[in-house]
Amino acid sequence: MSDILSWSIEQVDPQVAEIIRREEERQQNTLELIASENHVSRAVRAAAGTVFTNKYAEGYPGKRYYGGCANMDGVEDLARQRACQLFSAEHANVQPHSGASANTAVYLACLSPGDTILSLDLAHGGHLSHGLKVNLSGHLFKIVPYGVSRTDERIDMGEVRRLAREHRPKLIISGFSAYPRTLDFAAFAEIAREVGARHMADIAHIAGLVAVGLQPSPVPHADFVTTTTHKTLRGPRGGMILCREADAKLIDRWVFPGTQGGPLMHIITAKAVAFAEALRPDFRQYQQHILENAQALAEALQARGYRLVSGGTDNHLMLVDLRAVHPDLPGSEAEKWLESAGIIVNKNMIPFDERKPTQTSGLRLGTPALTTRGLRAAHMATVADLIHDVLGSAGDESALRRVNGRVREVCAQFPLPH
Ligand SMILES: *Cc1c(COP(=O)(O)O)cnc(C)c1O
Repeated sequence: MSDILSWSIEQVDPQVAEIIRREEERQQNTLELIASENHVSRAVRAAAGTVFTNKYAEGYPGKRYYGGCANMDGVEDLARQRACQLFSAEHANVQPHSGASANTAVYLACLSPGDTILSLDLAHGGHLSHGLKVNLSGHLFKIVPYGVSRTDERIDMGEVRRLAREHRPKLIISGFSAYPRTLDFAAFAEIAREVGARHMADIAHIAGLVAVGLQPSPVPHADFVTTTTHKTLRGPRGGMILCREADAKLIDRWVFPGTQGGPLMHIITAKAVAFAEALRPDFRQYQQHILENAQALAEALQARGYRLVSGGTDNHLMLVDLRAVHPDLPGSEAEKWLESAGIIVNKNMIPFDERKPTQTSGLRLGTPALTTRGLRAAHMATVADLIHDVLGSAGDESALRRVNGRVREVCAQFPLPH
């Protein structure tokens, strides 16, 4: 055996080893408020680093194109069964490499190029895979966007119905990346039925909350439910599709061979482990804490004068309209200052934003990662103070350094597992 096969990363590649070390340190010493991110368990990380990465397993359990797949079948069956149990679904496909890949498979399963999709406007909280012009979705299909109302900044189901009747889409998408309110999946399904469209619910952000019943499930209402596995669900980076038995073959065919080749079996192994974690009673506690933290953070920011889009949040995320406190501070600048203080967020358009997408008037904040670290509602006032101090610092370096010192203290109090 060649020696190199048993070398450590440090031995083979000191440069990459050093970058990994720096990233571990960054994650340990910063407060992660990006709503789509999380810290996975040791078990999930370990599963993703197993010998399952060595194996080709094109096809599905019991129907593989390669020999030696008995363990692949075992682990993929567990992942599928647990996904079905977690979401009370009839069928699960756990092979999509990402959320965007899951959506692509659904589009090709029910649309032809040129067909119309009705989806949430990206500028109002939608996702790029729901119709961005330079994404496959916007390139191949005609996109009709619905938005939030100017008055309450909530999705107006009357408007969704009106647009559906007018444009007769073949597919209606419910789901978001930056919308802080609960969706009415039953209402989307009713509109889809009325106009003869199929309905895809993309729960990439809220899957963990849905799994434990803290946000309504689209599974009884939608033809297809897509999700990522790495956001509130706290699994490895990846995607998944849930559907009814009647559509199982169609979906499986459009994942493989329709849009993908060999599945990432090490990631499917990690999905199985993440689903086992999500089926434990303490996962419900975790999701409950995410919501409590989001409520507490929203209230603490509002108490410091910030306006939140739609006036608050029902889920794990909120959109801060910076203009109420700092009319001249774009989200892009705020994001940079916060990062130098060790608080990681993303700038985000707010509905009817007058600034460009590269600047924005808002920030998107989410609590899943902080909650994983162990922060609770009582700590959210501190987090709001740290954010408020940064935004009021005018970017002054010594002020940012002082906040960073306090951020590091909080991080040290809530260490991540190694
Ligand atoms: C994050 C997200 C996705 C995309 O997931 P990737 O794994 O990054 O491709 C899809 N849909 C929605 C609504 C999302 O928020």
